[in-house]
Amino acid sequence: MSFTNGKDIMVFVETNENEPVKAALEVIAKASELAKAESVNLVGLLLGSNTDEAAKICAASGVNKIVIVEEDSENVEVIGNIVAEMAKKYDPSLLLMGSTLAGKDIAAEVAKKCETACVTDVINIAEGEEGLTFTAPVYGGTLLNDVVITNDSLKMASVRPGSFKKNELDESLSAEIVKEEVEEIKDLKTIIKETIAEVGESVNLEEAEIVVVGGRGMGSKENFELIHELAKVCGGVVGGTRPVTEEDWISRSQQVGQSGKIITPKLYIGAGVSGAIQHLSGISGSDYIVAINKDEDAPIFEIADVGIVGDAMKVLPLMIEAIKKIKEEN
Ligand SMILES: Cc1cc2nc3c(=O)[nH]c(=O)nc-3n(C[C@H](O)[C@H](O)[C@H](O)COP(=O)(O)OP(=O)(O)OC[C@H]3O[C@@H](n4cnc5c(N)ncnc54)[C@H](O)[C@@H]3O)c2cc1C
Repeated sequence: MSFTNGKDIMVFVETNENEPVKAALEVIAKASELAKAESVNLVGLLLGSNTDEAAKICAASGVNKIVIVEEDSENVEVIGNIVAEMAKKYDPSLLLMGSTLAGKDIAAEVAKKCETACVTDVINIAEGEEGLTFTAPVYGGTLLNDVVITNDSLKMASVRPGSFKKNELDESLSAEIVKEEVEEIKDLKTIIKETIAEVGESVNLEEAEIVVVGGRGMGSKENFELIHELAKVCGGVVGGTRPVTEEDWISRSQQVGQSGKIITPKLYIGAGVSGAIQHLSGISGSDYIVAINKDEDAPIFEIADVGIVGDAMKVLPLMIEAIKKIKEEN
């Protein structure tokens, strides 16, 4: 049963520093698979005044047609309006985007403007007997919900980072490029007066390959230095659980979990982290999980690939020294 009725599939491609974010490339991978199965085009929507590199990457990832709108605004209302206008113009059967912090807000804005349903934070999309089925975790990931949008118009979903593997880039692929303009919205409810980079935030947790997370079990901001040190020796970035950001040991933007960042590193190391469901739902896409906790019954050990039962204040210095030694030997 065709869910597209011959209509194209569209992906809104979020970018960071003029390149598609990892979550967008993962969405493109899944969308290109669906588009191939339905023999329709995959249309990528790019926003910005410097999109050449992003367009090349999109084409090499399997996008057949790239729509570019020259707009650099970070205002969700502005972006949402453009995505909605393009969705109305190109009339795709399905519109997908990454469920990043920005993507979640943009998806809601677009769904409202297009007057359609949007399934948020989906981890799988498959053609089922009742139609296209979106699987999304609910209750902090304890249950999986299969959702079918039954309308015949635009279907929308935001996809949780780490749910799909991005395609290998194939430089021999090319895409048709179309430039579009969208009229500015007049009655903006939000106006961004100034953007200030958070002091100390030089990390992009969502893109990082190695993330070292400290939890309340680290005990104090001084002890938390061990987390920074381990991250430094492994070439990773630092994250924290909610109590840690509430204590101001690190910034709010470094919180990992349901109400923070969803991360998909190759390696996650968590020390003094209990493994509450709200934290685990943000790290379950990690390839390899190492947990250090002094309580052998801590829930994090249930999903850890390697569990170390011990005092983080004793284990972390040993790990740091061992890694330093290996690096010196090589
Ligand atoms: C709506 C909602 C959203 C939330 N969103 C998030 C979120 O996005 N991210 C998030 O992280 N939490 C979130 N939380 C909070 C979550 O429920 C937990 O409270 C939190 O994750 C616990 O953080 P923790 O593991 O650092 O602390 P704790 O649960 O207090 O665990 C500390 C752990 O450290 C261990 N420990 C203590 N001392 C040592 C030592 N010396 N060495 C080794 N181990 C030690 C203990 O055994 C314990 O397991 C949310 C909660 C709600 C209700």
